[in-house]
Amino acid sequence: MDAAAERAVTDLIQWFGTAGEDLPWRRTRDRYAVLVAETQLQATPVRRVVPYYVSWMERWPTAAALARASVGDVLAAWHGLGYPLRARRLHEASRVVAERGWPADDRMTDLPGVGAYTAAALRCFADEADVLPVDTNVRRVMARRFPGGWPGTPPGRAWAAGQALMDLGRLWCTNRAPRCDGGCPVRAGCPAADAGNVADVTPPLRRQGRYEGSMRQRRGTLMGALARGERVRLDDDPDASASLVHDGLAARDGRWLVRAGHA
Ligand code: SF4
Repeated sequence: MDAAAERAVTDLIQWFGTAGEDLPWRRTRDRYAVLVAETQLQATPVRRVVPYYVSWMERWPTAAALARASVGDVLAAWHGLGYPLRARRLHEASRVVAERGWPADDRMTDLPGVGAYTAAALRCFADEADVLPVDTNVRRVMARRFPGGWPGTPPGRAWAAGQALMDLGRLWCTNRAPRCDGGCPVRAGCPAADAGNVADVTPPLRRQGRYEGSMRQRRGTLMGALARGERVRLDDDPDASASLVHDGLAARDGRWLVRAGHA
């Protein structure tokens, strides 16, 4: 066992105990709430997610409540977070949970939209199980700060360790501007910072294509109009309309594109 790495984990958890951000999804251990937060946080920054998460949970506080909602209302409430297929999958997952309950602990990925990361997040952030969710930020922290592998979590501290890694990767050990000598809470003994090879060991990010003029933007424009209750002609953007219909995010009604579930 790497005693220095274990000490870094202890330091990280201690730091999180005093400096960790108070985010609304950190005040719950409810699986549905964690699923909502984790789904919204995929590809959307924390600050942007907070108001959406709060109003979502007020409106649909349980999987059963979300399961009863119409898909059109769900997509309209999601508008602004981007990647609306996430909302569609979350809605489907809520219906499965409302009907059959949660899958077994090792079958979370059976739920629509739940991949390996979200399954691990449910286990760690809702169940406080000793399972480490590894997203892009955490993968980067691991490569830089724990190149010999994660040394394990002290008993009963899995939730805090997972959340602390999230904050470390998001706020300190960032991709482009890591704040190694600007107060990083685990700077002491950091292998990458000591070796001066932080950039070299950083895993490459998946490149996002340009948003301006992209199909994603065109789909977003149509989804925004539907969310505002405006009428949208299929002819306005036939390709983007067809792609939304194909993904179940909108429907056709004669010459019109309408909210999914409203045709
Ligand atoms: S010292 Fe630098 S590279 Fe190491 S964990 Fe902190 S921010 Fe990341």
